[in-house]
Amino acid sequence: MSRQALDELKQQIPLLGYLQSHDWQPARRLSRGRLMGLCPLHADHKPSFLLDPGKNLFYCYGCGCGGDVIRFAELYHQVRFPQALWLLREWRGLAPLLQSVADFYRIQLHRHGEAVAYLNQRGIHSPELIEEMRIGYAPGGCLRRWLTQLGYSLQSQRHAGLVTSAGYDAYTHRIVFPLEGNLYGRSLSVTAPPHRFLPGAKGGLYSWGQARSYPEVILVEGLFDYAALWQAGFHNVTCSLGAHLSARQLHQLCDGPRTVYLAFDADTNGSGQQAAQSLVRRLTEQGVNVRTVALPDGHDPNSFFVQGGDARQLQSLLEAAQ
Ligand SMILES: [Zn+2]
Repeated sequence: MSRQALDELKQQIPLLGYLQSHDWQPARRLSRGRLMGLCPLHADHKPSFLLDPGKNLFYCYGCGCGGDVIRFAELYHQVRFPQALWLLREWRGLAPLLQSVADFYRIQLHRHGEAVAYLNQRGIHSPELIEEMRIGYAPGGCLRRWLTQLGYSLQSQRHAGLVTSAGYDAYTHRIVFPLEGNLYGRSLSVTAPPHRFLPGAKGGLYSWGQARSYPEVILVEGLFDYAALWQAGFHNVTCSLGAHLSARQLHQLCDGPRTVYLAFDADTNGSGQQAAQSLVRRLTEQGVNVRTVALPDGHDPNSFFVQGGDARQLQSLLEAAQ
């Protein structure tokens, strides 16, 4: 890649936008537009990460790391320079598109009674939570037209996995949750496969930028579990989007001293519990303090609340976890 192409890439990716899409939020504003916040690169408890959006540069007074957006991507994703460039080029192409898709689906949520009814059935009703998680609804049969009007080519929609090779919306009758560089869709229909992601990585732990500042973190398998806990007032929660953690998710959990409460499904066939046991071993090897939450048989955190469980009862389960 030429020097000029590198400069162009750096100009096209605002470091602030890139950080925000990875859950970073500034804690305070300084002079000349500079921002200070928790460092995404080390376990930071008082804001030591300085961002200069004008210069597109960062520096952390805690871990001493600093540089441009490429350096940040190398450190954050723990990859070498060429891989960081690849990730940034993907992001540059995908981020604005996924932002448009998330915005469109959020508007659809309130236009479709069946979507709101499904959320209610899963115990989700808090407007703040719907806002926080940017929950939307994919009715199907309308996204392609919308994106085409916005100027996105059919080829780019297909490449992102939003439109099938036959030209239909890939997400139909699904509640959708925007992820870091991906989109999770939960089907309303019992006949369709329940879970859908775009091709590519699922991203890191859900909302890790928020959860990691807590000394005690609750880890759940699914976004509806996350939603139920968040709504009940447990904001120290994160989600692995499945019982098996990626190397990156594991690394995130181990990036500082903390206690992790595993609240995986207590399903009857025991696969969730098996995954939990193997995760307990791996985290313990890394020196993380792990406790397993014993949910009532056959329950996940979402169904625990839907069946009438409350925050006080869950707190007791957390205290009893070992
Ligand atoms: Zn740092």
